[in-house]
Amino acid sequence: MDFFPVFLDLENRNCLVVGGGKVAARKVSLLLRAGANVEVVAPQLCDEMKRLVSNDKVSHQARKFEEPDVDGKVLVIAGTDQQDVNRSVSELAKARNVPVNVVDQPELCSFIVPSVIDRSPVQVAVSTGGASPVLARLLRARLESYVPAAYGRLARLVESFRDKVKQRFASVDQRRQFWENVLQGEVAELLFAGRDETARDYLQKALEESEDEPHPVGEVYLVGAGPGDPDLLTFRALRLLQMADVVVYDRLVAPPILDLVRREAERIYVGKERDRHTLSQENINQLLVRLAKEGKRVVRLKGGDPFIFGRGGEEISTLMENGVTFQVVPGITAASGCASYSGIPLTHRDYAQSVVFVTGHLQDGSVDLNWKALAHPNQTIVFYMGLHGVGVVSRELVRHGLPATTPVALVQQGTTQNQRVVITDLAGLEATVKNEQIKPPTIIIVGEVVELHEKLSWFNPLPGANPRPFGGTPHV
Ligand code: SAH
Repeated sequence: MDFFPVFLDLENRNCLVVGGGKVAARKVSLLLRAGANVEVVAPQLCDEMKRLVSNDKVSHQARKFEEPDVDGKVLVIAGTDQQDVNRSVSELAKARNVPVNVVDQPELCSFIVPSVIDRSPVQVAVSTGGASPVLARLLRARLESYVPAAYGRLARLVESFRDKVKQRFASVDQRRQFWENVLQGEVAELLFAGRDETARDYLQKALEESEDEPHPVGEVYLVGAGPGDPDLLTFRALRLLQMADVVVYDRLVAPPILDLVRREAERIYVGKERDRHTLSQENINQLLVRLAKEGKRVVRLKGGDPFIFGRGGEEISTLMENGVTFQVVPGITAASGCASYSGIPLTHRDYAQSVVFVTGHLQDGSVDLNWKALAHPNQTIVFYMGLHGVGVVSRELVRHGLPATTPVALVQQGTTQNQRVVITDLAGLEATVKNEQIKPPTIIIVGEVVELHEKLSWFNPLPGANPRPFGGTPHV
């Protein structure tokens, strides 16, 4: 984090603005909106500033900036077109530990002013750390459309009910659930439609009726996190991540996805490296049941799709046996994500009319597959968890009729900034995995379609762009 975001209370506090032009005038009106007292120091004023200084809360010193102007101020903004003036305002303020902003000169600032969506008391502030004010403005424009104008009124309504709701519900979790229902339900919709009084009545009624409600019942969401790139999450996955009380995740979930989880949510790492299970599957199943019975909203987050080599079926059958309600949210499976991001269509009119997903790793570490069915011409085979069995895979496929020259792609950490694609063939597979030091998570794509990689490859991760590897620091 380059800057620490805060919202300052400037009501009746003394602030200094140096400069009398348009840029300075904009800052003065912003400060006035926050209720500040503003002293403007500038030999001349533009028309806009002239209007502003007629305000009771603004005083004007018609002269050049002087050192003592900074004294007794809680905030200083310089917006002149003279470099030396801006610089000395910045230095003097910094020497006195008064926060200072010099418009459009991040190197002279001790704080920056974000782009703001103002639905007071709701405010959304956007900053690029001074890197690109234009980008911040564009982002703000996008967010504007997501934050209905009525959010301010909605917040005021909530505020007026806060004490009552606190009295009614003893636990923080109950209160949060109540408010989430209100803010995402009818009350909010009525308010957005301008029916403020009806919204208030509904809220009152919701509060009264909730009195006799049973203890909150937990639920489990089995959510596919996709192969790594957070942009590949579904909307539903994102929404649930942001509502969760607890997130139970394993090694394949990429760190940038965990960053999207609600900040207050508890995170439980349950591991699952090959042959080194941090928690056994049975214990994971029981953990989910226990958390849900405690009334928590549990997101069980899994790499890729929960129903493809994800043991999702086992987890939900335990939930079902224990009467815990659940939802399953599909995710983009590794085969699909890695194929797209390496430019290898899994099927193609000229090369492959079918595709099979198989796991190259079985419980006891052996590879025991129906090789005859796999070694089928015009078929693409995608191996999950296959690195340890590559020797057997290539030998058996060749023995059952596939040419030793059949091309093979190894896609490591597919869809992430660390993606690596290595092309070989069945004859060279085992040696390539060793020589290129291929590491999990990797999928292996076998079939003629792999030839298309050379022509269709489009995704170029930036070298060193993401220093965080998979399976990084577990949070417990
Ligand atoms: N449910 C997951 C698969 C879990 S099995 C899904 O649908 O994708 C774990 C295997 O998935 C890994 O051993 C690896 O073969 C593959 N895998 C998962 N994420 C991957 C990624 N980003 N890049 C390459 N392979 C990946």
